[in-house]
Amino acid sequence: MIKRTLKQLATMIPGSVFHSGNEAAVIEGVSIDTRTIQQGNLYIPIKGERFNGHTFVHKAIENGAVATLWNKDEENPPTDISVILVDDTLVALQQLAKSYRHELDIKVVGITGSNGKTTAKDMVKAVLDTTYRVLKTDGNFNNHIGMPLTILRLDETHDIAVLEMGMSSRGEIEFLSNLAEPDVAIITNIGESHLQDLGSRDGIAEAKLEITSGLAPTGQLVYNGDEPLLTSRVVNPVFETMTFGSSEQNDLYPSAISAEELGTTFTVSRETTYSFFIPVLGKHNVHNALSAIAVGHYFGLDNETIAKGLKELKLTNMRMELVKRTDGLTFINDAYNASPTSIKAAITLMHDLEGYKQKILVLGDMLELGDQEKEFHKEVGEFIQAEKIDYVLTYGPLSVEIEQGAKNNFAEDKVMHFEEKDELVKKLTAITTREDVVLVKASRGMKLEEVISKMMHKL
Ligand code: ATP
Ligand code: MG
Repeated sequence: MIKRTLKQLATMIPGSVFHSGNEAAVIEGVSIDTRTIQQGNLYIPIKGERFNGHTFVHKAIENGAVATLWNKDEENPPTDISVILVDDTLVALQQLAKSYRHELDIKVVGITGSNGKTTAKDMVKAVLDTTYRVLKTDGNFNNHIGMPLTILRLDETHDIAVLEMGMSSRGEIEFLSNLAEPDVAIITNIGESHLQDLGSRDGIAEAKLEITSGLAPTGQLVYNGDEPLLTSRVVNPVFETMTFGSSEQNDLYPSAISAEELGTTFTVSRETTYSFFIPVLGKHNVHNALSAIAVGHYFGLDNETIAKGLKELKLTNMRMELVKRTDGLTFINDAYNASPTSIKAAITLMHDLEGYKQKILVLGDMLELGDQEKEFHKEVGEFIQAEKIDYVLTYGPLSVEIEQGAKNNFAEDKVMHFEEKDELVKKLTAITTREDVVLVKASRGMKLEEVISKMMHKL
């Protein structure tokens, strides 16, 4: 954050009142976490479900905070630090970020979608890094707290912010978009995540399109044009649009996709034809890359520069991460998360993958899918093609349905369900050879990456 006095910061938070201390104190950044707070920070204590940040203020002071915000209804504001009283510290954090965003001469790229936000964010950053000074959302800091905190990390060393925007219910993306006011907005895809709260895929599409509410009228919406729920809704917009996807109807679509051991090559024809390489697998990642190419074009980059950036891509962990054991056995660690769309994308990749002796799927539960969760799991099982996959190993209570679905196509002894990871690892050890590839995928809560770490030690 660019340095501000406490007095200046207070003017950025409507309704705030200076309570005590030194209004001229210089603030260099904000923090909501006393464990990571840094010298010169403003502490913003947030009241959560389990913890109340106000009770940790002394830890914040100990670790270098020079001032703190304080909810008016919390008792005993500290006396050994400057204090600004606010109605609600969370709202104050958001107001602060919003005014700060306005003061900056910085372009913003906002990214939402059911799957692929973090991946697209990493790709956009890789592309823009070639030419600009870019700050991106750390990890998955994509909500009403993480995004404002990311904005407040911007300073004069940045030209562009790439912000991930996540949601679980209606209105959240609208809020984030109005706060961040993106110049470019990306919608990666519409899947089934959060179906529980949004009712239907229709509802999910509406919710993702909320990203246009803060989009600059001179800005650009980059979205998945294979999705009719989006194309039917984006009609005569004030902003520019750019679509991407498999279909040739899109502004950007890939041809000549070829999966290689260390990544994927594909060609895009638009005015000229150009070939790109990304060091990750999967057609869905080609789509994510197309959205990054669109952003590169928006910011005036030529294909050669964009290709250079994409080649250098480093993904945030556990998203289609290739891990090789010393004997050569290959794992694709996609245990970061799973939904029906993303799990099918990963299975499709495994169907298409060549050059391995056996191809094995290790699949765990997809969480938060609502009433139809069992059907979704069963469908995933039915989706797996027996002639292209050698074994399916499932883990977790819902994944029994994957097993059941797969058993419709597979021989009995090729599909196995496990309630214990150790049992699964034992079986996996017994069936794998060094020339095999194993895809590991489930929702975050299943911690399925443990299967890979256990297998790593099984040599
Ligand atoms: P979260 O909501 O947890 O933040 P996210 O939208 O940031 O997720 P990623 O972390 O990039 O998504 O990827 C999550 C999973 O979705 C990965 O398993 C990845 O393989 C898959 N995935 C990535 N991009 C796509 C896509 N365009 N379509 C379908 N699945 C995808
Ligand atoms: Mg994410």
